[in-house]
Amino acid sequence: MIISGAKLLGKAHKEGYAVGAFNINNMEMAQAIFEAADKMSSPIIVQSSEGAVKYAGGYMIHAIVKTLSEQYPHIPVALNLDHGTSVESCVQAIRYGYTSVMIDASHSTFEENLQMTKEVVRIAHAVDVGVEAELGRLVGIEDNIVVDAKNASLVDPAEAEKFVKESGVDYLAPAIGTSHGAFKFKGEPRLEFDLLKEVKQRTGIPLVLHGASSIPDSVRASFESTGGDLKGSKGVPSNFLELAIKGGINKINTDTDLRIAFMAEVRRVARDEPTKIDPRDFFKPARAAVVAMLCERMKVLGSAGRV
Ligand SMILES: [Zn+2]
Repeated sequence: MIISGAKLLGKAHKEGYAVGAFNINNMEMAQAIFEAADKMSSPIIVQSSEGAVKYAGGYMIHAIVKTLSEQYPHIPVALNLDHGTSVESCVQAIRYGYTSVMIDASHSTFEENLQMTKEVVRIAHAVDVGVEAELGRLVGIEDNIVVDAKNASLVDPAEAEKFVKESGVDYLAPAIGTSHGAFKFKGEPRLEFDLLKEVKQRTGIPLVLHGASSIPDSVRASFESTGGDLKGSKGVPSNFLELAIKGGINKINTDTDLRIAFMAEVRRVARDEPTKIDPRDFFKPARAAVVAMLCERMKVLGSAGRV
């Protein structure tokens, strides 16, 4: 059943686990996410960026998720717009049937971010849609905006408290040291757990971790064995994810890991079986690889067995 993101994450917040928010832009990825959720009895958040909406169409993405939610009626699912860049974009997503929207005005001033979030909250709450906002800036690429280390900044807990109180936002993504994309940490991974705990204490709402792909060794190995190059990048280690959940994270965004796991299999088939021309010969093993990776992830997040 597609339910409000606020309801789905309210339960995770109360019970102290995290729900994976997995990005899709096609049918196979969505199927893999639902199949893993079914296997692990886990709630899920399916999400798409504005770029994915542009690629597949918002009504198409909603139709895929709605159809799968009817196929797996016992799995609670929220459909989230990832990094909405304007009030209009969020309203459009609500019209498509999304039950959660992220308004990301974290690149603007605090005051502009607050005003924009307030506006989205007012509209979304009228139709029982959950709202996510972000404070601080992550390094990396969010659709088209490139944030370099110089312009990145961590969240300020006092600002977070004021922001949540005044905006009425349902869940908040505080920047605590992660970044987007496959190339996350130059040296050793480092996340600001004390900062996270303080934000949790002051806000008392579900918190969100962006840029949380962990690039598991097996996934890395299969991608690189086909000649793929991850340039020695490191993801967020699993034990960091566990610590983040202890610190108050209830929604963990993952996109890169799904892409790498999926494309490793596509690459393998292309290399080993050069006569194959049927997309299904590529996508079937790719989908299965994503399912296997997601089942492991759901155990780490603590969402397994919560249905
Ligand atoms: Zn993000």
